[in-house]
Amino acid sequence: RFITFEGIDGAGKSSQIAAAVALIESRGIQVVQTREPGGTPLGEKLREILLHEPMHLETEAMLMFAARREHLAALIEPALAAGKWVVSDRFTDATYAYQVGGRGLDEARFVALERWVHPDFQPDLTLIFDLDPAVAARRLAGTGQAPDRFEREKADFFQRVRAAYLRRAAAAPQRVRLIDASRKPDEIRAEVEAIILGACFQ
Ligand code: C5P
Repeated sequence: RFITFEGIDGAGKSSQIAAAVALIESRGIQVVQTREPGGTPLGEKLREILLHEPMHLETEAMLMFAARREHLAALIEPALAAGKWVVSDRFTDATYAYQVGGRGLDEARFVALERWVHPDFQPDLTLIFDLDPAVAARRLAGTGQAPDRFEREKADFFQRVRAAYLRRAAAAPQRVRLIDASRKPDEIRAEVEAIILGACFQ
């Protein structure tokens, strides 16, 4: 199975991924944990460029999908074929949210790239961590880490990213579950575990 975690920067998904992976492994399943952009040596190089280099919006979208193509071929598809589960920090929903929602990429271009790179493939389960961007920004400020060029975006950018995630969730209610990420980490973890147990272990 392929499970993806999504949400705006600072929504707290990363800390929940480790708990989810531990839960699945505790059931005797081998899990490959990965991230986008990234997940392969080439993908990680593209990530460095994407996170720090200013570029045209369509270049950005194509590089995201180029990294994803490599990720699918070199890591995700072989792992799934070997019977492992794959848990990824972001996938194509992030490109919809950030590049279409946040930056205004033409949706038809996004659809064309998605159809090119993975025409018949979607995650089995996607958890979107939903949070007010103002709260997420306060959390990020508390980490003391230098922000990348996406995290330096203004509040209205993250409002659009959040709205795009919510549209994506509404369009695929079977696949996508929304998590209220304003709650305490323990409560969120309990819900994440219940969703994974219910969706993937029935
Ligand atoms: O989740 P993580 O912080 O690793 O993501 C790296 C950065 O890449 C984030 O700031 C996110 O906003 C950005 N990103 C993006 N479009 C994607 C995937 C990630 O803008 N499709």
